[in-house]
Amino acid sequence: MTLQDIDNRVKGCIACDLCKTRTNTVFGTGNPNASIMFVGEAPGRNEDETGIPFVGAAGHLLDDYLTAVGLSREDVYIANIIKCRPPNNRDPRPDEEDCCIHFLHEQIDLINPKLIVCLGRIAAKRLIDPNFQVTRQHGEIYSYQGRKIMATFHPAALLRNPANKVPTFTDFEKIYEIAKQENYL
Ligand code: SF4
Repeated sequence: MTLQDIDNRVKGCIACDLCKTRTNTVFGTGNPNASIMFVGEAPGRNEDETGIPFVGAAGHLLDDYLTAVGLSREDVYIANIIKCRPPNNRDPRPDEEDCCIHFLHEQIDLINPKLIVCLGRIAAKRLIDPNFQVTRQHGEIYSYQGRKIMATFHPAALLRNPANKVPTFTDFEKIYEIAKQENYL
């Protein structure tokens, strides 16, 4: 099985009602051999239009953080918990996450990252702890199926609340330090 095989199944997926309102499925982007994988929650309008994750204003902010610590999209892989846009960018419902999460698990198995970085509370609650609190627990290292996992603020949340931009930068510095120490790059 390859990432393209999984993507083809995502493109044809009608397992939840989000298939009725999507323009494109949004599978993932970046280096398929990356040691660092970022996981957001779900596509927004720009992502739905292009089929690529994190291409709108939030995506540009993510690129800025990567660049600021010496990383690029070519160093990492980026995906979401949910592959189709929830209408009006509402939070994905737990039943939609339940329907879709197996695609992400398959992506993680194939890419085999050493560090997963959850972007925002939806991904952190699903992959780290249902009671995860990003404000209190961002930047902490946890374990996920033998891998390191951590969470930081979602770039879209930073656009609404710039006060968290400084702690987010500290988290990205930590990501880079781990990558350097453990030869991820
Ligand atoms: S969100 Fe996931 S489960 Fe729902 S239709 Fe899209 S690909 Fe299928």
